[in-house]
Amino acid sequence: MAIETYNPHTGRVLRRFTPFSWAKTERILDQAHRAAAKWQATPFAHRADVLRAAAALLRERQDDLARTMALEMGKPVTDGRAEVQKCAACCEFYAEHAEGFLADEVVKTDASRSFISYQPLGVVLAIMPWNFPLWQVVRFAAPALMAGNVGLLKHASNVPQCALALEKIFHDAGLPPACFRTLLIGSDLVEKLLSDDRVRAATLTGSEGAGASVAAIAGAHIKKTVLELGGSDAFIVLADADVALAAKTAAQARMINTGQSCIAAKRFIVEKPVIKDFISQMKTHLLAMRPGDPLDDATQYGPLARPDLADELTKQVNDSVEQGAKVELFGGQAKPGTALFRPMILSNIKPGQRAYEEELFGPVALVLEAKNADDAVRLANDSRFGLGAAIWTSDSKKGEALARQIESGAVFVNGLVKSMPELPFGGVKKSGYGRELSYLGIREFVNQKSVWIG
Ligand code: NDP
Repeated sequence: MAIETYNPHTGRVLRRFTPFSWAKTERILDQAHRAAAKWQATPFAHRADVLRAAAALLRERQDDLARTMALEMGKPVTDGRAEVQKCAACCEFYAEHAEGFLADEVVKTDASRSFISYQPLGVVLAIMPWNFPLWQVVRFAAPALMAGNVGLLKHASNVPQCALALEKIFHDAGLPPACFRTLLIGSDLVEKLLSDDRVRAATLTGSEGAGASVAAIAGAHIKKTVLELGGSDAFIVLADADVALAAKTAAQARMINTGQSCIAAKRFIVEKPVIKDFISQMKTHLLAMRPGDPLDDATQYGPLARPDLADELTKQVNDSVEQGAKVELFGGQAKPGTALFRPMILSNIKPGQRAYEEELFGPVALVLEAKNADDAVRLANDSRFGLGAAIWTSDSKKGEALARQIESGAVFVNGLVKSMPELPFGGVKKSGYGRELSYLGIREFVNQKSVWIG
């Protein structure tokens, strides 16, 4: 894929970049590798100062950053500013807590003293997607840098200016430049990088195919990976739920980032007595949402990030309808090759249909009917994915009990599924493995070393 800024709202290429050669990439890797030894010797307090300065710069530059996201991948500027704020808060969270999360843990054994110490690994390669171009990177970079690792970022080819802006923020915040570099490379150089001994580990957020490829290469070289892949998360509405609130939240959840979010609710599993009411209310909320130019403050949802993503979504919808899905709300693409995709609702979703089996990465809500709570859990778990489910019920004890039965990395009862620095984030099954955020996230890329003293 060309490394370029393509505005999905206007269909114009705004800027093209020449990809780095392997020689340049290798030079940067070598600098990063050498910088890692120095960076890991710095005290936590110094690293925290850098992260706090990065947070301040993120806030200062939020308008420019939101504009860049809008131009590169169609995110409305109001959402872009919120994403920048979230990144700043994440930097501050790890600045404050990293030292505690990585403090030695004394363990009683037959030794006079034994403990677990957490030590950085060195260069970590981050392969990131375009949907949250800043947040996906920061939630890797903030804990990794605080742990004493250094990062090389291979961002998605359609968000080069977001990648460069973030690199500049870390550098302007006082991070030695070699400790965080953006590599303007295509995925063709990833194998060479991963095979190099100076790269110690990798993290990838993106599609299943990209994740499987990176994990296979890393596995061949005995390297740790964290994978955060797709989802087709369940949003269960039981008959005793507050249907009005559930339907309002459902529309909001499905429209996060114009439906292009791994944890956006995708399958709405609703008990029969409330299904009609739920669909009708969700429809009203979806129709009230305003599409438009992502640069306009009044815009509530923008185009999909690239026209090919909209084309593929249209195919998935058309195939599913041919396979028996029923259109409850008609929307979609105005014509092939364009990125705007209006929200849709499909019902009568059955096994064998593409909508049942695959992730739909855009504003298409799938409604499935459940006979009862157990049936809802069965349907929720009948998926290859498991990232962030939701359960709506007025009985929170029942909600908690059902939450334990759901196969996913997170379950929210009566709330919008979201990621936050305090709680771990990640998936099971084809949604990936490993965790980001919280104290678990910062412990992914460290040597968990046992020290035994006789
Ligand atoms: P990809 O998975 O192709 O892209 C994500 C990142 O992985 C990009 O940096 C991409 O680089 C890189 N990449 C792609 N293939 C490889 C590979 N073989 N080896 C190493 N790196 C690779 O996502 P797409 O943009 O194609 O989106 C397709 C689908 O992926 C979506 O419809 C959605 O289902 C899923 N997705 C999930 C996301 C999530 O948040 N979990 C985010 C984005 C997508 P490059 O851009 O240069 O190809």
